[in-house]
Amino acid sequence: MSTTAPTILIVGAGPAGCTTALHLAKLGVKSILIDKAVFPRDKICGDALSGKVMDIVRKLHPDWIAEFQSSSNAVGSYGILFVSPSGYRLRLPFKPSYTAEEPAPGFVSKRIDFDDWLVNKVKQEPLIQCIENTEVRHYTFDEENQTWQAQCKDGGTLTADFIVACDGAYSSFTKEVAGLITEPQHNCFGLRSYYRNVKNMDKENFIELHFVDDFLPGYFWIFPLPNGEANVGAGIRADYLQQKNINLKKQFERVIAEHPEFKERFKDAEVVNDIKLFGLPLGSKARKLHGHRYLLAGDAAMLIDPFTGEGIGNAMISGFEAANTIVHCIAQNDFTEKITLQYQSTIERKLSAELKLSAKLQQLANYPRLFNFVVKRTVKSKALSDTFSAMFYDVNIRAKLKNPMFYVELLFSTFK
Ligand SMILES: Cc1cc2nc3c(=O)[nH]c(=O)nc-3n(C[C@H](O)[C@H](O)[C@H](O)COP(=O)(O)OP(=O)(O)OC[C@H]3O[C@@H](n4cnc5c(N)ncnc54)[C@H](O)[C@@H]3O)c2cc1C
Repeated sequence: MSTTAPTILIVGAGPAGCTTALHLAKLGVKSILIDKAVFPRDKICGDALSGKVMDIVRKLHPDWIAEFQSSSNAVGSYGILFVSPSGYRLRLPFKPSYTAEEPAPGFVSKRIDFDDWLVNKVKQEPLIQCIENTEVRHYTFDEENQTWQAQCKDGGTLTADFIVACDGAYSSFTKEVAGLITEPQHNCFGLRSYYRNVKNMDKENFIELHFVDDFLPGYFWIFPLPNGEANVGAGIRADYLQQKNINLKKQFERVIAEHPEFKERFKDAEVVNDIKLFGLPLGSKARKLHGHRYLLAGDAAMLIDPFTGEGIGNAMISGFEAANTIVHCIAQNDFTEKITLQYQSTIERKLSAELKLSAKLQQLANYPRLFNFVVKRTVKSKALSDTFSAMFYDVNIRAKLKNPMFYVELLFSTFK
């Protein structure tokens, strides 16, 4: 039995990688966290941080949530405004009953700030060696020594006993080693821009999801940011983008300039930076996320919610569970697939019901008439609105959507 501590290499210092390293440190395990960027760095994203994100931040350190809440780089958000293809507006608080005095369940914070805040926590942790500006290009496995060789762009090589791939949507480890491919029907493209002076922003900082025909089954979003700015973007599934030969950037600009819902709101708005595009690997398909001496976490594990596009929460949940699995491997002194399987089972238990349900909701959004009908009925029924609100924090309630009786009740107006 080996007596030296194993070298754990975490590639990528986004939310998945930082959570893995911070939770490992909390459990007394050293790690090396490496990133090609120098922080603070931008990440193309809607910047919406759900209750799931806050839950993991709280688990990493009970004091951090209050620290983050008081940050001037974040705005608290109390819910979501859904606008259906024909314009029905459904305001769903994250909790069925709430007051603006209580801490907000969700936040919007530019990723350049949020990710830097996390990386600063990493840098204060003596058990984590944080290496920036170093890109891993290629991985080989040394069978004889049972170690990974991670070859870097600068010519250097890092040797590790175990790798957690947290290198995001374009992960080379995921493709090269785990053999997972990006399939257009399980992948989305999103673009993001920052604007100033968008009119009629929501008074309670609800995030806005507009299901306009041009992007179905994806959506156009407007999320409030500090200092009068807004994160504005749109996402669409890659197969639709290809089939309909859509130029996402042109379509986005046209919707802002011409759509009756937006043209007035954006009349005096200024673009703060360029529009940027990035991929979202969706969790609408089950995949193998573990192997001999490795785990995949976050976007490298393709865990983004296919309906909402939310991926930061799942990235942090998977990072947290990756750390728990590594501790289990160390305790067993066994890093083989037999033991890393624990990670697969935990992720399935925690996320698969929710991801499957969101895949169904994504399909619903592809039938505008049915989608309009569901939104219209929900707007009219307090019981139904409360049910949908409750779905944000209770996946068992969300599971109601899978039951055909839910739609029968909806159709025959048994919800009051
Ligand atoms: C347009 C758009 C909008 C989105 N909106 C939201 C939203 O509002 N809310 C939400 O929850 N999610 C949203 N998402 C999803 C969210 O951005 C991701 O799910 C989340 O960033 C995943 O975190 P991660 O740590 O897995 O990866 P990332 O945040 O991508 O971090 C990966 C890190 O790995 C580093 N890296 C990559 N390759 C290498 C390499 N070879 N060597 C070393 N380092 C490397 C990168 O520099 C990066 O720092 C959105 C995504 C997009 C594209």
